[in-house]
Amino acid sequence: ATPTSIMVGTGRAAELGVLFRKGEALQALRDVSVIALDKTGTLTKGRPELTDLVPAEGFEYNEVLAFVAAVETRSEHPIAEAIVDASKQRDITLAPVGGFEATPGFGVSAKVAGRTVAVGADRFMTQIGIDVSDFLPVAERLGDQGKSPLYAAIDGRLAAVIAVADPIRETTPEAIKALHALGLKVAMITGDNAATAAAIARQLGIDEVAAEVLPDGKVAALKKFRTNGARVAFVGDGINDAPALAEADVGLAIGTGTDVAIEAADVVLMSGDLRGVTNAIALSRATIRNIK
Ligand code: ADP
Ligand code: MG
Repeated sequence: ATPTSIMVGTGRAAELGVLFRKGEALQALRDVSVIALDKTGTLTKGRPELTDLVPAEGFEYNEVLAFVAAVETRSEHPIAEAIVDASKQRDITLAPVGGFEATPGFGVSAKVAGRTVAVGADRFMTQIGIDVSDFLPVAERLGDQGKSPLYAAIDGRLAAVIAVADPIRETTPEAIKALHALGLKVAMITGDNAATAAAIARQLGIDEVAAEVLPDGKVAALKKFRTNGARVAFVGDGINDAPALAEADVGLAIGTGTDVAIEAADVVLMSGDLRGVTNAIALSRATIRNIK
């Protein structure tokens, strides 16, 4: 492609709210056949809400919520916000928190009113030696509904299964249809559990899923989609998406996402609207075709 045609192409893209940080990305995008999308904050709004709290025997709803929400006041994870908001809606007073610890991709723990409280994924409970098997059927039912199940433990005993649900962005179904219409394979990468990821993929018609991916595992997950020399684009918004954005053949960041993601990306979708991906691809095909 000539520098002029790339300038024209990237200029048109900018009018559509798609910012090319590197001119070469316009060319690279034409050759992409797989588009991998981060789930939380990219396909979904990234603003989950608490939908369920199922207490274990000997525990009560408000009691567990009070302990868990207290711990989550110290976390910046979107899940934490959902749980703290739920406690506010119930006018629950939160006790002071000590010894807070976060294990990225797993969960959080702290001391609250002299008790040890842990909340997180099933793998977090396994890591701290808590058996969740009694609650697996409940968690699976919640996962099948597209909700994300978590577990809460108090003083080493399983206290509840909690579910949060993160609404899908209004523009996501249309964006995925458009990507399919362009002949692309659509994949999703998420730290969320397998049942939840499968339910969301089913709902959206997503072709391939990598679930339960740890924050440092996104690059490896991305590489798996590169079979038979396929060129892969990755779309993400979070701090932990930065390595995958850099590794992808084309990295596209959601403009409303974190600065770290934007810095690592080749392309920025200014509006945070996934339909920008389709615009960018269509434009790259048109531009590169015109100069042949
Ligand atoms: P994602 O953003 O895709 O959910 P993360 O790596 O941030 O991926 O988190 C993976 C999982 O770890 C979450 O789905 C949740 O089960 C657990 N987790 C992480 N942080 C917290 C937290 N503050 N409170 C409860 N669970 C958490
Ligand atoms: Mg995200």
